[in-house]
Amino acid sequence: MEKDFSLLEYNTFGFNVTAKYFLRINDTKELKEVIDNEAYSSSRKFILGGGSNVLFKDEYFDGVIIHLDNKGIKTLEENADKIKIRVCGGEIWKDFVNLTVAKGYYGLENLSDIPGSVGASPVQNIGSYGAEVKNCIHQVHAIDINNGKTYTFNNNDCHFSYRNSIFKTEEYKRFLIYSVDFMLQKRGTVRTDYGNIKDFLMQRGVTSPCISDVANAIKETRANKLPEVGVIGSAGSFFQNAIVTQEVFDRLKFKYHDIPSYPETDGRVKIPTGWFIEKAGWKGHREGNVGVWDKQALVLVHYGKGNSKELLALMNKIQDSVKKEFGIDIQPEVNIV
Ligand code: NAP
Repeated sequence: MEKDFSLLEYNTFGFNVTAKYFLRINDTKELKEVIDNEAYSSSRKFILGGGSNVLFKDEYFDGVIIHLDNKGIKTLEENADKIKIRVCGGEIWKDFVNLTVAKGYYGLENLSDIPGSVGASPVQNIGSYGAEVKNCIHQVHAIDINNGKTYTFNNNDCHFSYRNSIFKTEEYKRFLIYSVDFMLQKRGTVRTDYGNIKDFLMQRGVTSPCISDVANAIKETRANKLPEVGVIGSAGSFFQNAIVTQEVFDRLKFKYHDIPSYPETDGRVKIPTGWFIEKAGWKGHREGNVGVWDKQALVLVHYGKGNSKELLALMNKIQDSVKKEFGIDIQPEVNIV
């Protein structure tokens, strides 16, 4: 256990937060130190993966940060059609995806280059370019950090939904995901109908894309649009997309003819929140050490030397402005701790 530990390298926003206690574990048995010691067990605890979807609201975290660093990938079963792979939670997500793409296993290619760890991937059911990790997860293995008991969650038990799962609820936040079993396909088709992926491939003369063509297209698109992790502080999309009723959408469409929208399966309509933020004039706006990314208004950035208070103030201003202009409450996707 380390004391007064700087989380600078452990949050992609790059805020200089200090944790009272920091425990890096490679094996779940090492959690015993937290469970058996009254000073730690009675403290507030937070499980930290790659720190790519978190904003610490204070400069001091008065509790224990548990960071899982276990590594390992192994094949559990395979046949001519499928492969089941167990991956340790401390593995880096994008490295694992690169491996599956190199092997020609279908399922995760549209989730290329998402920052963070494998253990964090089920928590918010990471998604991009029409793919969601829930479609490839077979089981999730987790440990209750309060008593050390281990549990296996089948896919259905995880209650996956849009950027959400049971592991985001107050009750299940105490579960540390130490490994995930993925079921990937050895034969399949790629999905290119999302965003501008098809156009991107066509422009490069790729008419029958393979898995690596799609993965590369997504990597390049992301690199062109999103700030580089480790260079500019950010946590990817800061806000959730807005999901509104048809009635609300019709009202907005009447006033704003160019409003983009995507139908949801339940009859509601998804509107990219980046559009509201851009339309309200925030895209590229900078306030001191923080700002709104000039290539994607959904992303808030930290240019360095700032603090989370500045970022939260900007978040509030953007929320108020979108509410005033469009009557829509936009919510952060980032986990504010
Ligand atoms: P984009 O292409 O500018 O599209 C804006 C939004 O429109 C996206 O958020 C996406 O919603 C939605 N969209 C686009 N095509 C769609 C379709 N055919 N059907 C339904 N919805 C569609 O988005 P972007 O910012 O460059 O991001 C591209 C993808 O990467 C998106 O899937 C986005 O969610 C994902 N991404 C996620 C994070 C994160 O931190 N979670 C960060 C960056 C990018 P969805 O978000 O529902 O896909």
